[in-house]
Amino acid sequence: MYLISRCLLGADCKYNGGNNFCQEAADFRAAHSCFGVCPEAASGLPVPRPPAERTCGRIIDKEGKDVTAEFEKGAEISLLAALQEAQRRGEEIEGAILKANSPSCGSGKIYDGNFDGTLTDGWGCFAAKLRDRGIKVISEKEIKDGKF
Ligand code: SF4
Repeated sequence: MYLISRCLLGADCKYNGGNNFCQEAADFRAAHSCFGVCPEAASGLPVPRPPAERTCGRIIDKEGKDVTAEFEKGAEISLLAALQEAQRRGEEIEGAILKANSPSCGSGKIYDGNFDGTLTDGWGCFAAKLRDRGIKVISEKEIKDGKF
């Protein structure tokens, strides 16, 4: 079973109320056993919500509010839900396709906290939990590279 960011599949769970639909992610889901996740929605954060970025080890929204606890809670809930679903299906979690650069889902590169589109090395809090369990995480930009 693979995990996929729900916003890549067209769910309107993005901070601005929209989505990040990605045809390659949808095609991947059609061909594989997949489970959609949105850690920020799972945390109970509203849609829409202010954008947030990681800075100095915390996650701060554009209005200056520290939302680290909410993001961590959403990541924990999503991880637990994914593990339970994999167990229910009798499958392993083989990997994850998560939205690039997000403070929850980013893998290797995330926005740097200045809200100007600049990237820095780092991981979103949900992606990092998967990585730490040995689960391979790629972004939607890497699907075409055949990494899975
Ligand atoms: S938390 Fe992940 S799945 Fe949810 S909107 Fe943000 S990038 Fe998409």
